[in-house]
Formats: sequence, C-alpha cells, structure tokens
Amino acid sequence: MAVPNDFSGCERLQRSRRVVIKIGSALLVEQATGALHRAWLAALCTDVAALLAQGKEVIVVSSGAVALGAQQLRIDSRRARLQDHQAAAAVGQIRLAHAYEEALGSHGVTAAQLLLTLDDSENRPRFLNAVNTFFTLLKYGAVPVVNENDTIATQELRYGDNDRLAARVAQMVSADCLIVLSDVDGLYTADPLTEPSATHVPLVEELTQAHWDMAGGTRSAHGSGGMRTKLEAARIAMSAGCQMAITSGHVEHPIRELGAGARATWFVPGSTPRAARKQWIAGTLQPKGFLHLDAGASAALAEGRSLLPAGVTDVDGHFDRGDTVSLVDAEGREVGRGLVAYGADEARAIIGRQSAAIPEILGYRGRDELVHRDDLVILGPQTKVAL
Ligand code: GLU
Repeated sequence: MAVPNDFSGCERLQRSRRVVIKIGSALLVEQATGALHRAWLAALCTDVAALLAQGKEVIVVSSGAVALGAQQLRIDSRRARLQDHQAAAAVGQIRLAHAYEEALGSHGVTAAQLLLTLDDSENRPRFLNAVNTFFTLLKYGAVPVVNENDTIATQELRYGDNDRLAARVAQMVSADCLIVLSDVDGLYTADPLTEPSATHVPLVEELTQAHWDMAGGTRSAHGSGGMRTKLEAARIAMSAGCQMAITSGHVEHPIRELGAGARATWFVPGSTPRAARKQWIAGTLQPKGFLHLDAGASAALAEGRSLLPAGVTDVDGHFDRGDTVSLVDAEGREVGRGLVAYGADEARAIIGRQSAAIPEILGYRGRDELVHRDDLVILGPQTKVAL
C-alpha cells in the first residue's frame, strides 16, 4: 500500500506543532537476544526527520537502556536487584544514545540526550532548568532523546515506566501531541488477547471509570507499562491540554502510518496546552508574592505584552523563580497572575530598571521579562487585594 508521507491522513498529527514520541523497550530491543532493532529505529528516525521537515518540533522519550545493558552484562532484568538494574541502565544508555545519534545523524538531525528523574519534574527549580534546556535544544533544531535516569533513580523515587515520564515531558514543554508507540494499536473494551469480543476504542474525550475498567487486564508482555500506565499518561497529557495517541509500533514507519490514518486511540482534551497552562496559573490559590505595576505596565499587560522590570514599582513577599505572583495595579487591584522569572530578592534589585541593565545588576544574563506573557493570565473582573 502506498503511504503518503505528508501526514495529511491524520489531521490531528498534521495540526500539531510540538510532538512527543514515546518508544518502548519491546519495540527497540529483541527480547530473546537483547539485540537492537536497528532497521526499525532507522525507519522511525526517517519519520522524525519528515516531521521536522514540516516545521514541527520533536522530542523522543525512549526506553531500552535496561534491556540493552542487561544483555551485555548477562543480567536477567526481570529478576535484577536495584543495583544491577542501575548498572544495566548505565551500560545500555550509552549504546541507546549512540544508536539515536547515528540514526538521526544520517538525516542531518542533531540528537541530544536528557536523562530525567522524578525529582526533576516535581521540584520547581529543577523543573524550570529542564524546561529551559528543552526549549533551548528545540530552538537549535535538535531532537531531545529522553529517558529516565535509571542509574541514580531509586525504587521509591522513580517513574518506573516511560509512559508517564513521556506525559510529564509533554506537559513540561506544552506539547500539543503525544504519540505512545505500543505493542497494541490502542485501547480495547477488554483484553483483545483473551476476549475475542473486545472492540477497539478510537476516541476518548473524557477519561471515565469505564476506561480504567477496560485497561484492567491489558498488560504488555514486556516493558513495565501496561495499558493502565498509558491511561495515567493520557490523564496527565489531557490535563495539560495535550492530545495523545496510542498506536502500534509493530510496523515500519509507525509515525508515517499514523499520519496516514493508522488505527489508534486518540485521547482528545477539551482545551489547548496554552489554555490549560493559563487555567493552572489563574487557579493557584495562594500567590507567593505581589508585584506592583505602574500605569504603563498595566496598559502593556492589557495589550497582551510581557511584564518588564521597568514597569514594576514595588515587590512584596518571599518567592522563588517560577512561583506564582499576583500582579497589582496602581489602584491596588489584582489585574493578573503569572510565573515570575526571578526570586524576590533579585526582583527587588531589578525593578524600575531597563532589562539591558540586568546582567550588570545581577551578574548574569537572565530573562528580559519579569513575567513572560506566556506565563501570565489577565484576570477577569478586577478585585481589590488585601495586602
Ligand atoms: N527507563 C527504562 C529503560 O530505559 C524503561 C522504563 C519502561 O519500561 O518504560 O530501560
């Protein structure tokens, strides 16, 4: 069958700008021998290059480190103790990274490795550092290849499965599409392996108990994530306004096939990543501080512009970079909320000054904006805040 490579068969993928692709161990590594499926990886990277050529940004979340390393060290990964698991990951990750570097490199695409721990997505300053690294790499046209940092992740402090890690990455970078390549082509009403009457579910617009019940028995033979962790990933992605597809990776060119309308379950949220993020900022119950704006800054905000240090007259409260702060106009009304780019002490040092002076005042070059417009929501009916 001739497959178009313009992805026009699937509008959802075609419309997406920032795509996260999750690849499980079972697709990449031959279970019995521990050999890497190089031809499959090469085909996948051709698809990634095609997405890039269409102006999309792509992040790959790939498993396979433990499976590859276990084979080399002759460790049975299913029975491995934590330290063996960590050693296998250390050996396997370097091979995995090399394979991606080669496969993407053959298309002139730069691969970049990011190893994350649970802490990196739960701890605010580390989260922001990871986000900045992602955005900088994407700006340079590189493809971040992400895995859990299994060599240092402990049993309690690890994702354990890359389905949820991929969803957290999608959330971190405000991706609009997450593709989970799996050994099944989506969610079924029951386990299709044991229940012949099971039917495929093509679209989920809201996750309900019925979906969790469907996922109950569907476990993948390999890898740590079954259908339940995929639904958990869908829940995270949807809450971030990111659509997610589960589709089969057991074909060559799975992304191209998805673009041509291959069977998948699409989880489609009601909002966009931008709207979901703004809703989250607006919903922060307790802002950590207040920035007082002059009339010019209030007017700039109303026009959808960022808040610059020059337009801020005073700072109240103790907050760190990345915390939510309340933006208050000269009349004491809360006009907006946003994620602040500097901690309270640094903010105090730069307010009233031009952004060009920031490096001289702080000794390093940070963001020009105190609150970037992407991190800011203008609040509806204005209310006076009690300070
Ligand atoms: N991070 C693990 C690895 O690279 C895999 C986790 C999973 O199975 O999802 O081997």
